[in-house]
Amino acid sequence: MPPSYDLVVRGGTLVTGRGAVPGTVAVRDGRVAAVLPPGAAADATDTVDAAGLHVLPGVIDTHVHTRHPGVPEREDFESGTTAAAAGGITTVLEMPISMVPTNSAAAVGRRVSAMQPGALVDFGLYGGAGDENVDEVAGQADAGVVAFKTFLQPPPPARLDEFAGLWSLDPAARRDVVRAVAATGLPHAFHCEQAPLYLALQRRLEAAGRTDGLAHAESRPPIVEETSVAEVLALAAEAGAHAHVVHLSSPRSADLVRDARARGVRVTAETCPPYLFLTEQALAVHAGFAECNPPLRSAADVEALWRKLGEGLIDVVGTDHSPFLEEEKARGAGSIFLAPPGLAGLEVLVPLMSSSWRRSAPRRHAADS
Ligand SMILES: [Zn+2]
Repeated sequence: MPPSYDLVVRGGTLVTGRGAVPGTVAVRDGRVAAVLPPGAAADATDTVDAAGLHVLPGVIDTHVHTRHPGVPEREDFESGTTAAAAGGITTVLEMPISMVPTNSAAAVGRRVSAMQPGALVDFGLYGGAGDENVDEVAGQADAGVVAFKTFLQPPPPARLDEFAGLWSLDPAARRDVVRAVAATGLPHAFHCEQAPLYLALQRRLEAAGRTDGLAHAESRPPIVEETSVAEVLALAAEAGAHAHVVHLSSPRSADLVRDARARGVRVTAETCPPYLFLTEQALAVHAGFAECNPPLRSAADVEALWRKLGEGLIDVVGTDHSPFLEEEKARGAGSIFLAPPGLAGLEVLVPLMSSSWRRSAPRRHAADS
């Protein structure tokens, strides 16, 4: 008789939704078939001895930009998903920025074909929803995207190809985009930063000769995000959409999300490790290598964001993994406004969050232990 299971993982401490308990995990056909008591008999083709280790479910990273097929020197899907697997992430949700971007049903098919051969973990795709491709929203939903993404900012002039069909600047078209995605029933992720405000602030800083690292944070203060979040929540409320605020960085944005939920608006929110583990001072030290959008925040905002996470106002921590070449990030030493925004994160998400989660709820867990 063949063994009952393909794989058993024995001797470890299982981290479950109900706590950490000793036990054995049994796998059949790529799925968890049973969770057994520590000493239970279970015959399997392969056995892993996890004594002294914690056994966690694979993590889903909701926010990844391998951008494959794109600029392979930055990353391709094989190197990106290798980093994911090494970091304990077994599913990545890939954003639509690419060459060609995910902006139509045909593009969804092309990207899946391009990504499948290098995929070392499972993946899902966000579709792109912008002013230019409102008519392509329903088709992408039929083609299997898991959600949509809209940038509310113009892309960098040198990267128009990577962002085609992903951005919305026209206020009337933006409303149409939100309605079109709402009609699919899928979540609608928004990059919330008010472009007219940060562009005006950046022009002022540059006119004053400010191109240092901290000028990036000063050009995009929290109000840039908060006013954009407020607009998205109003649009979602009108359209009956499920808005998903990605890379939320301001604790006041989390309050806006809470208030909208109280009014019955469907909204979820994500933050990312840079907003929990770094402050804007990293920009002063590392310039372009600490540049991401929204920018890093003050120490007080970082502490407040941990509290919002502990209060359950933020639903998910994703990486916004966005690698660039060293020479691309190094341009920020000349002017911070010349470095591309984005930080890598696939390998560090799980270690960082599993070692620091108590920061989100210090009182409750101090009382528990
Ligand atoms: Zn992103």
